[in-house]
Parts: sequence; C-alpha cells; structure tokens
Amino acid sequence: MLKFDIEKRNGLARVGVIHTPHGDIKTPAFVGAATRATVKALTMKNMRELGSQAILANTYHLVLRPGSDLIKEAGGLANFSNWNGPTFTDSGGFQIFSLPDVKISENSVKFKSHIDGRNFEMTPESSMQDQWKIGADIHMAFDHLAKSESYEDMKEAMVRTHQWLDRCVNENEKLAEEAKKNKEPEQFLYAVVQGGTFKDLRAESAKYCASKNPDGFGIGGVFTADGMDEMLKTVNSILPEDKPRHLLGMGQEPIDLFVGAEFGCDTLDCVGPTRMARNGSLYTLDGRINIKNAKYTHDFTPLMEECDCECCKNYTKAYLHHLFKTDEITAKILASIHNEYFIVNTVDQIRSSLLNGSFSDYKTKFLSRYYH
Ligand SMILES: [Zn+2]
Repeated sequence: MLKFDIEKRNGLARVGVIHTPHGDIKTPAFVGAATRATVKALTMKNMRELGSQAILANTYHLVLRPGSDLIKEAGGLANFSNWNGPTFTDSGGFQIFSLPDVKISENSVKFKSHIDGRNFEMTPESSMQDQWKIGADIHMAFDHLAKSESYEDMKEAMVRTHQWLDRCVNENEKLAEEAKKNKEPEQFLYAVVQGGTFKDLRAESAKYCASKNPDGFGIGGVFTADGMDEMLKTVNSILPEDKPRHLLGMGQEPIDLFVGAEFGCDTLDCVGPTRMARNGSLYTLDGRINIKNAKYTHDFTPLMEECDCECCKNYTKAYLHHLFKTDEITAKILASIHNEYFIVNTVDQIRSSLLNGSFSDYKTKFLSRYYH
C-alpha cells in the first residue's frame, strides 16, 4: 500500500505526506503537468528550483512517442526525464476520448494517432501495462470520458469506468506481483471517481471506487469550478480518509486550489498555468495580466513585487513585454517559471495556513484581492 501520513485535519481538508518510492510529497501539493515527460519550456532544474514536488505525464502521448518500452529501457519516467522525484501518469483515457474518430466498445478504445494516423487500441489492461513500463509511482485507472454533460452520458461513462476499474485492478495485481519478483520498485494505482456534477452519480462512483481498495483516488471529469465544492464534499465524505486523493486537471484558477484543498484533495494538476504563460497571460496577486499589453512598454518594475521566482527577482515587465513582442523563446521560459511558481507556491501557502490555523483568513484575503 502507498504510505500516506496525515499530520493535521481541518474539516475535510488535510495536511499530509505521500511517501512514494521516488520521494515524499508534502500535501496539499500542485503537481506539474509534464504531458510528454517534460513541462513545456521548463527544465527539471527549473522545476526543482521553483519548488515543484511531483510531475504528471500522459500515457496516451508517451505510448505514441517515444513508446512505453523505450521509457522502460531508460529506467522509467523519473530517470528518463532526469526529474528523479515522485511521478504520476494519467491513463490516457481523457486524451483518447477527445480524438475525432475513436471507436469505443466494452472491451477497448480504438483510435488513430494524431501524429501519423497509425491505428492503436487501448484496453484497461494495456493502459496498466503501459503505465507500469513508463514506471510512474502513481497510476490512474483507465477511465471513460462522458460524451456530453447530460445525466445519461455521465452515467454511461461512470458505469463503463467502473467495469474497466475491475479489469485495471486485476491487471495491476498481476503486474505488481511480477515487479516484486523482479525486485523492481513498487507502483501504485488510483481509481478514478466519475459522475460529473450529479450528486447521486458522484456518491455511487465514490462508493464503488472505495470498494475496490485502490491505493488512492483520482477525481475526474470536473472541468469547471462551478459546484466543485459541493461535488468534492459529496465524494470526499465517502472516500476512505486514510488514502490520498488527486483532483485531475484542475488548478488553472487560484480559486480551484483553495476549493480543492478545503474539500479534501491532496494533490492536483493542470496544464493551464504554463499554457497561459506561453501566451503572455501571467498571474499576479491582483489578478492575471497580459504582459503583451502596450501599457507595460516602459514599466521597469518586476511582474510581482512579492514573488520570489527567478523571473520576478531579475527582470522587469518592460523586458518581458519586449521578449513577448519579439517572440523570443526566453519569454516563454521566464513566464512559465513565474506562473508555475505562483501556483506551486500558493498551494504551499495553503498548506502552511492549514497547519497554523489561518486558512480561512488566507483564503478570504487572497481571493478578494485576486478577483477584486
Ligand atoms: Zn514570479
């Protein structure tokens, strides 16, 4: 079992430590989105320096290129990428279901590579096998993405996800047994809770996932922060308290970080912060700004006075504005360092505030200033 210690509780919120074979994650924590085994525009040295504790890569993308066998040959994701710390993989379900001509059956998902049109098939078993080869510490079960947000489609996706979870659990047991024989590091499985915004489906899914006794839980299919608090309250009141929970694909908006932690999520990941950075959309404590805006041409102050990142410590808004206007690669690098630091650091501050009892003060002050 994945070792998870809870140091302090505050309602549904908890402060803890997840002990993975590649190191500890102090939670709550924001996990860097390393979709193709890299965080776009950042080196792993950048990631370590900005305080990131873990990364999450995507099975779909890595199976297409460079292939899971190659990553196994390289000694696994942490070694291949020189991250050398805790790693997650998501199952690939989300990306595959977003492809144009995907054929879904009870047994598998067939799809064409978005790169060269090659035909692929992924089953719950093959997703587990690929994730074991990629070698992340924590895997997500293969989940079925709903076709729409309607009740019927959400229910169908949930039922299929549960059927597939049974198969993921079985396959995972076999692979864990094999790894043990070969004296390879342990890897752990999170079940993915589905159900969209429907309370009864979320409750049913949480109960089902808990009954399979996985190492932890992913909470999937959230998409918007509207009603996320109620949904997380439902799910996290049902999931066993002593296992970690990961909120999948949320954390672009600072409010997601506060709601996620307050209602019992231990980790979360999102591509949003670095994607926005590459477009020049940068976080400040007074809200997001577009650094490409002409008003920053002569602004020789740092992007954020209170920020300790490499970008804010050393460069001015005028310089960043110039780099974006001239389309320099450095623009994307410095902006990504800042946005990723801003989100990682905010979650670290949430952790500290939960520990010293100032969470609700910190939340009120932060959100009222950020969203005016
Ligand atoms: Zn900064």
